[in-house]
Amino acid sequence: MPRHLFGGWEEIAKALRDRYVILFLDYDGTLSPIAERPEMAKLLPGVRNVLKELSRQRGVKIAVISGRALNDLEQRVRIPGLTYAGNHGFELRGTKIRYAHPAAEKLKRVLRKIAGRLKNTCAAFPGIILENKLFTISIHYRQASPKIVNLAKKLLLKTIGPHLEKSQIVLREGKKVWEVRPAVAWDKGKIVLWFLAQFPLGVRKRILPVYIGDDRTDEDAFRVLKRRGLGVKVTENFKRSTQAGYCLDSPGEVFEFLKRLARIKAAGKYKVETVKPKGN
Ligand SMILES: [Mg+2]
Repeated sequence: MPRHLFGGWEEIAKALRDRYVILFLDYDGTLSPIAERPEMAKLLPGVRNVLKELSRQRGVKIAVISGRALNDLEQRVRIPGLTYAGNHGFELRGTKIRYAHPAAEKLKRVLRKIAGRLKNTCAAFPGIILENKLFTISIHYRQASPKIVNLAKKLLLKTIGPHLEKSQIVLREGKKVWEVRPAVAWDKGKIVLWFLAQFPLGVRKRILPVYIGDDRTDEDAFRVLKRRGLGVKVTENFKRSTQAGYCLDSPGEVFEFLKRLARIKAAGKYKVETVKPKGN
């Protein structure tokens, strides 16, 4: 069971102060309260300012990782100097980094075809919202009745069945959302490792990776950080099983954590001037 991040805070604060913190942040349900419709999800008030402050501080680097499309994510956060990973890390953009997963890039054509077919299907079901994110497709059902959800799922499986059989795509469940993704071994855990590998080895040893997220897809990241960082699950139900070692109960508490981190880094005894990725 995860421990609350603010319990035993002294020890955590010391690690945050002494090490170069790479902060991986999920967006929906982490920096933004879950909204009725995906396009309504905004940063919690105050979060933008504290992220801006952190982005200027030494000894901390921020990457926002989301299932949203990269452009959508960037427009929602709107802070220069951060790294943004969209589509669960299939595409990534930062000041010195640019990346698109090659195998996923190739499957965009198949995804486009599927999205075209699903468009009409989804439009016929009240409360079902299709979101075509190019690298992945999300089908949101938060607002649909259970009966509609059942019907829509059947039709979804029928539509994507042939592509599932050919192992071109996979279907994953998120929070009230189905995700159609390219069948590529790539997830939020792998993107975290990829990102850390961009730093020179000497620097990597001083890094404390912190990952905060609320979704099932964030579990891959918690798993890879089990022994080498802090995995923080945002959940009201602390007893729910998770790979994360720590938890916070809401985006409000994530905001509180960001403020604490900004205070720690502002007081900064951090010695290393700046740490930049190698770039590629
Ligand atoms: Mg989330």
